[in-house]
Amino acid sequence: MRRIGVLTSGGDSPGMNAAIMAVARSAAYHELSLIGVKHGYNGLLCKSHNIHDDMAELDLDTVLDIADQPGTYLRTARCVEFKQPEVRERAVENLHKMGVEGLVVIGGDGSYQGAMRLCELGIPTIGIPGTIDNDLPYTEMTLGYDTAVNSCVSDIRAIRATSRSHDRPAVIEVMGRHCGDIALKSAASTGAEIVVVPEVHWSIDQVAERLNALIARGNNRVSVVVAEGAWENMEPFDVYGFLTANGVQCYPGEVISSPRLASILKLKCGMVEARATILGYTQRGQHPSAYDSSFAFEAGNLAVKLLSNGIGNQVVGIKDGRIFYMPIADALRCKRSFNMELYNLINSL
Ligand code: ADP
Repeated sequence: MRRIGVLTSGGDSPGMNAAIMAVARSAAYHELSLIGVKHGYNGLLCKSHNIHDDMAELDLDTVLDIADQPGTYLRTARCVEFKQPEVRERAVENLHKMGVEGLVVIGGDGSYQGAMRLCELGIPTIGIPGTIDNDLPYTEMTLGYDTAVNSCVSDIRAIRATSRSHDRPAVIEVMGRHCGDIALKSAASTGAEIVVVPEVHWSIDQVAERLNALIARGNNRVSVVVAEGAWENMEPFDVYGFLTANGVQCYPGEVISSPRLASILKLKCGMVEARATILGYTQRGQHPSAYDSSFAFEAGNLAVKLLSNGIGNQVVGIKDGRIFYMPIADALRCKRSFNMELYNLINSL
């Protein structure tokens, strides 16, 4: 192999730039030239007027400068049409035209599907799990998850300080899509008393009962950490009926959200005030933690080493604290196991 490419795809995650830097350094070491593909799989389709807006040789000096930065220098995007076989064939033609013989894809499970299809079309591809969600079960950690949890911990601590000052509870919504790991880990790390996640069916009444019990024990500054996907697994709740029963203005048909949950808990638990904070993209736009930076460094190096040895169709991950690789298809078949012990511990103490 003489030339390889690298792209970032799906949602951005802290550590993507560090992984690009590691790929660039390793490519230079293995005497491979490196093409940076812009905007995820879109770059392979060469949609821009200028080819350099889609694919361009990566300058090691520039890449060294951005390694510690949040976000991704290559930009990231979704590319819905990449699911069509004829579109992927066009992408492979473009790769051939550019002389790119192997590819590193940094992204989540959707991006891995695309990577697997490229392998089927003869482009050896290696995946690096770039997502804060930690929803790829073949690896102990995904790239960006540790940073996202640290970001949540810092914000939840700040919110708990103000909860303590005012003696009032707080609802805090964190990211993670269909995976409750960010919520679980950040709740455990901050001493939050209640956590709700998509993996476990829950009801507002259960949360209110738990909150009331904590208040009865003298703790009225409880933190309720909600995973953004938790609404998928919530017992339906009649917002309209509940609010009218209490003689409060009702909002028929309105969906439950963190601010709505906070106001329902306030009424159900007789609190003077309960506020919600949605942490959102602050979790993704952070400088990578030491853990994520070093994971990115090892992952980028292993990805290039594999390609330089003619090995493709693999993903890189962490097992027993060490970097490893396995076939993409096998990785995507792994089943998630949720840490029920930790969930029960947080919600029962
Ligand atoms: P993530 O990689 O973070 O899970 P997405 O699920 O949005 O994010 O996927 C990112 C991109 O991967 C999609 O926009 C698309 O370009 C590509 N992709 C997703 N699923 C497939 C698929 N089944 N076949 C080919 N490409 C896919």
